[in-house]
Amino acid sequence: MNQTPAKPPLTPINVALFVALPLAGLVLVPLWGIYHGYSASLWWMALLFLYLNGLSITAGYHRLWSHNAYQAHPILRVLFALWGAGALQNSILIWGSDHRRHHRHVDDNKRDPYSAGRGLWYSHMGWMLREYHTNEEDFSNAPDLQRDPIVMWQHRHYVLLTVIMNVGLPLLVGWWAGDVVGGLLLVGLARLVVNHHVTFFINSLAHYWGSQPYTDENSARDNGFLAFLTYGEGYHNFHHIFQSDYRNGVRWYQWDPTKWLINLCAWLGLASKLNRVPNFKIQQSILAMRFKQARNHLEQADTPQPLREKLEAEYQLFVDALNRWKDLQAQRYERRKGELGDAFAEKRDRLLVKWERAAVRTRLRELEYSLKMQRKRVEILMLQLQLQVA
Ligand SMILES: [Zn+2]
Ligand SMILES: [Zn+2]
Repeated sequence: MNQTPAKPPLTPINVALFVALPLAGLVLVPLWGIYHGYSASLWWMALLFLYLNGLSITAGYHRLWSHNAYQAHPILRVLFALWGAGALQNSILIWGSDHRRHHRHVDDNKRDPYSAGRGLWYSHMGWMLREYHTNEEDFSNAPDLQRDPIVMWQHRHYVLLTVIMNVGLPLLVGWWAGDVVGGLLLVGLARLVVNHHVTFFINSLAHYWGSQPYTDENSARDNGFLAFLTYGEGYHNFHHIFQSDYRNGVRWYQWDPTKWLINLCAWLGLASKLNRVPNFKIQQSILAMRFKQARNHLEQADTPQPLREKLEAEYQLFVDALNRWKDLQAQRYERRKGELGDAFAEKRDRLLVKWERAAVRTRLRELEYSLKMQRKRVEILMLQLQLQVA
């Protein structure tokens, strides 16, 4: 029988910041609204602060520093470090090393700092309120962050920065708007609490609620509604399998303001080397999941032989496509190596190299397309399977 071990002691500072402060806000923010009211400019400033904090966490702390999904200009990094400190979620160094552990040991209750396996409350904020051993600082997985001067500067001055961003700036905004208390309550406190909880949803709800189109090897889910609340991070199933991609909502129409911000920064020359997972890999993972589901259906139901054969044939085609893709990638790699070794290749060879490269690219695209079409056929087969079961 499983016995629940005694809980570690509470972390007083976190209890004050994450429980007492929001509870005070729950009373004070509406009270001030009723007796005094908030001006439109304060509401707009609170919304602006909310997005600046949120996007600094998602585009900065998360996709840039935790996953190296792209490179950013120092101006952008300083902005992310400042507004990220304003989100009051610890320094980049601590956040990043925790998050890398979350990915590496996802759902492992002993090693994932906010493992979904320990319940919705725990993964949302319970993990921060006690001195759990998974919270012990261990930066061995973040030597790159320790070499980053902006990260280390923010880490050293974190308390001062967070006070300036959460008290100093809202005070200034309140003074400018002619309502210092209102500025502190709406732009300071209410904005902070809302941003906390929407960001925490990524660790909690995004591991419970939604679909698993790419993998079911971990608890992460895709959820368009959560993406809307979390600056685009709700496509968490995609993110857990392709964490080095700068996008979470990989389709152009998927709500991902973080991805759009990174694109805008790239256009402005503030971001570069945006990492995109090859489309083939994405199609491959979706199809692999569909075959897995089909196999489960086959095991449960008495499926007619022709349908089984069709599925088997599709699966063979899928395996063949994967092998051909691997061969093409290997060829590409070998060719690149050859070109590097022979940098002064004769002019007459260059044309040939160009032609070969274009040929490989075309074949890769054809493979990508064939996988996409196969996905559609498998969807139809799945529908037939489901009808059989029904
Ligand atoms: Zn996660
Ligand atoms: Zn991540």
